[in-house]
Formats: sequence, C-alpha cells, structure tokens
Amino acid sequence: MSVKEQVALARYTTLGTGGPASAFARARSIAEVEELLRFADARGLAVATVGLGSNLLVADEGVDALVLKLDAEVAAVAVDGERIRAGGGAANAVALHRARAAGLGGFEFACAIPGTIGGGVWMNGGAYGGDFEQVLERVLVASAEGTGWLTPSELGLSYRHSNLRHGQVVVEAELHLRRRDPAAIKAEVAELNARRKAAQPTNKRTFGSVFKNPDHELTAGRMLEACGLKGHRIGGAQISPKHANFIENAGGARTADAIALMREARRRAHEQYGVELRHEVELLGQLPPLE
Ligand SMILES: Cc1cc2nc3c(=O)[nH]c(=O)nc-3n(C[C@H](O)[C@H](O)[C@H](O)COP(=O)(O)OP(=O)(O)OC[C@H]3O[C@@H](n4cnc5c(N)ncnc54)[C@H](O)[C@@H]3O)c2cc1C
Repeated sequence: MSVKEQVALARYTTLGTGGPASAFARARSIAEVEELLRFADARGLAVATVGLGSNLLVADEGVDALVLKLDAEVAAVAVDGERIRAGGGAANAVALHRARAAGLGGFEFACAIPGTIGGGVWMNGGAYGGDFEQVLERVLVASAEGTGWLTPSELGLSYRHSNLRHGQVVVEAELHLRRRDPAAIKAEVAELNARRKAAQPTNKRTFGSVFKNPDHELTAGRMLEACGLKGHRIGGAQISPKHANFIENAGGARTADAIALMREARRRAHEQYGVELRHEVELLGQLPPLE
C-alpha cells in the first residue's frame, strides 16, 4: 500500500482542472481498499474515490482527503452466465465490450457514458432511455464500517442519483443482462455513438451534462441555449457552442471559471424561466457557492 501526498488531480478529470489531493492511493484489490479505509479512519481523513473523472469538478485549492483510484482486481470484468461482474474501477467501455462478446445486451446505453462502473452506480448514470438501475443486481460497497452487498433499492437509485456518500467505495457491481445477438448490440452502439457525436462536443474536454434536466418542457441544454449562453466564456471555460449543457475547457480553464459559468447559467435560467437548475456534475473540495 503506497499513499502519496499532494497529488495533482487535474490529470484525473476529463475537464483537466483542480488542485491536489492531500493524500492519494491506488487500490488493486478489495483487501487494499479496506486497508486504505482503515488508514484514513485512523487519521480522521475523509475518503473519496475517483473513476475516470468524467463527471467531476475538483476545487482549484485541492481536496483535504484520501483520494482512491481503483485498479487491477477492482477494475476487472468477468462474465458469469447472464451476469457481468465488474470492479468499481472498470471502464463502462470494457464492461460493454465484454458483454457484447458474450452476447449479453442491455448495457448498450453505457456507450454514451465515458466513466467507470463505480461512477455509474454513484449517479445512476444513464442515456437513451437506459440507466444503471435497470441492469444492476447488487453492488459491493466498502466503507470504514465494513464491506457488504447493497441492492438497487438500498442504494436509493433515482434519476442521476444514489444515496452513496464519500467514504463508501463501490468495489464491485453485478449487472444482470439478457441474451442478445452481438451484431445487434454492435449496430445499436454504432447508432447511439453517431447520435452522441452529432449532438455533443465529444472531441472537447468537458465533464458531461452540467445540470440535470429540470421538470420543464425544455431540457437544461435547450433552456440555456434559449438564454443565449452558447459560446459564453469566463476565463478558460466556455459553454459549448455545440450543446449548451456542456462546459468546455477552452484553454487554461480553472474550476473557478466553470463554477462562475454555472452560476451565470443558473441566474439566467431563473430570470428567464423561473427554474432552479440543479447541477449533475459532482463537486469535490471546498468550492465557491453556486448561488
Ligand atoms: C462527453 C461526456 C458525455 C457524457 N454523457 C453522459 C451521459 O449520457 N449520461 C450520464 O449519465 N453521464 C454522462 N457523462 C458523465 C459521466 O461520464 C458519468 O457521470 C459517469 O458515470 C462518471 O463516471 P466516472 O467514473 O468518470 O466518475 P467520476 O467523474 O470520477 O466521479 C463521479 C462521482 O462518482 C464517485 N465515484 C466514482 N467511482 C466511485 C467508486 N468506485 N465508488 C464510489 N464512488 C465513486 C466520485 O467520488 C464522484 O462523486 C458524460 C461525460 C462526458 C465527459
């Protein structure tokens, strides 16, 4: 077990912003996750896990916590009949690839989600009508209190939400899929990828959807577009000219720039539509208030 101090987190986020973690470690097995949780508990250190950082804004000043990254055994994927057993650190793309090769369908939606299984469970990631809740059978969660399986209802999954809190580490998930022709899976994934590429800035540094869709006839993206925010820039961050619910790192962005854009977007949506937009992106560290 090797715990490093002051490790820059910007390279662990897809936006490429954020300061250092006061402590950082890679865990390669469930036993190592448990050891690291005991290490943090003994020192009164908070624990947070990063996946692929594709939905994460880290404070520029950094994070006073032990940040874990899951590797090896806790990022592996195995097929067992109609089930996929995936480590929390496994990329969705790898799990989808293994499912397709085994002729198991139902996880195709995840081709649109460039994160890990743990990140997907954390926020009940979803796209194109599918989400983790529909395929999850159970999840192995480690925390200072111990390690145990939780069902989707115990996780409290709902639209882009679970009850998980920092300090709870998703070390494994079991997905129950259904038999499907690999060629049909491949065709659907190709179609979804083409739709995503046409609508989203997939070749830019972003963190996915900034806001959850509000209870309104307009999606968050359409609402912010109607507010005239496409291309709006603060510092090195800009609202994507392609899709207004994405923020791009247009060069030298800081997390504070993205937060300032989010504040402006919330203000404009409230002023024009009376809607309080709620952020989808996860925040790590002490960040400036969004209001
Ligand atoms: C271009 C683009 C498109 C996207 N499209 C979609 C989309 O269509 N649908 C969608 O739902 N999302 C989308 N996202 C957002 C993102 O990919 C998802 O939210 C994804 O599930 C995040 O996974 P991650 O591993 O990157 O998590 P991270 O961003 O690293 O972390 C997100 C949260 O999960 C927690 N976490 C991560 N791993 C674990 C773990 N093992 N145990 C406990 N907690 C953990 C973190 O602490 C953090 O709070 C998109 C992102 C991008 C960049």
